[in-house]
Amino acid sequence: MFTRDSPVYTIVRGFTLATAVLHYVAAAATDRGRKRPSNEDAFGFSVEDGVYVVCDGMGGAAAGEIASSLAVDEMLRLLSGHGAGSSGNLPEAVEQAITAANEAIYTRGQRNQRLSGMGTTLVALAVEESHVWVLNIGDSRCYRMRQGRLEQLTVDHSLVEEQVRSGRMSRAEALRSPLRNVITRALGTQVRVTPDVFGLEAEPGDLFLLCSDGLTRELPDAVIESMLAESRPLEDLCARLVGAAKKAGGNDNITCLLVSAEA
Ligand code: MG
Repeated sequence: MFTRDSPVYTIVRGFTLATAVLHYVAAAATDRGRKRPSNEDAFGFSVEDGVYVVCDGMGGAAAGEIASSLAVDEMLRLLSGHGAGSSGNLPEAVEQAITAANEAIYTRGQRNQRLSGMGTTLVALAVEESHVWVLNIGDSRCYRMRQGRLEQLTVDHSLVEEQVRSGRMSRAEALRSPLRNVITRALGTQVRVTPDVFGLEAEPGDLFLLCSDGLTRELPDAVIESMLAESRPLEDLCARLVGAAKKAGGNDNITCLLVSAEA
């Protein structure tokens, strides 16, 4: 047995290797931005349970806010006890949580005319020691900063992303396209949803960024990369990212959640 704070020593062919068990530190910030009357983004995390979620809601009236906060609450509730340190089947738990969260939002939208059609994007991490599952539905994103390099891990489920991938539109055109808000998958808008789910191994020093499009529309990846390269507390990095996105226009709600893997 070992705790998440103590290193594990493994004997391999006579050499003693110190296999440090990773632990995680997280911080997040959200802001209404400068143009929107309310904040329809939501985030939540539990380092103890290894769950980190960012959602960007949509729908008339207050529906977007309800959808995004419902999704965050459901994911945290359904994945509590499945993360760090547990020996459960995390990928299966993740799929079940997505299905249940989708159903919760969809059912609520069906029952209440005012909330009809509401939905949300969802980008999340479910972490068990060094195993990280990335979940994505919609155009919120997950990036990983490793050795000073920022890499986008998720693919947007958006009309412009499809156009770019099929060669019908350039990246520059996609950024200006009037169709750039159209997402091709959302949580809660239909009876069923198919998330992208993939696993990867975290290394000490990895920094994961989960964010809504209010950040990535305003700041080019190169700017985010250089800001994350600065060695500062995660809270400061979050505040600076949000501040920079507001300064660059703040046309949408802005949310960022940083998760650092440390030895
Ligand atoms: Mg947005």
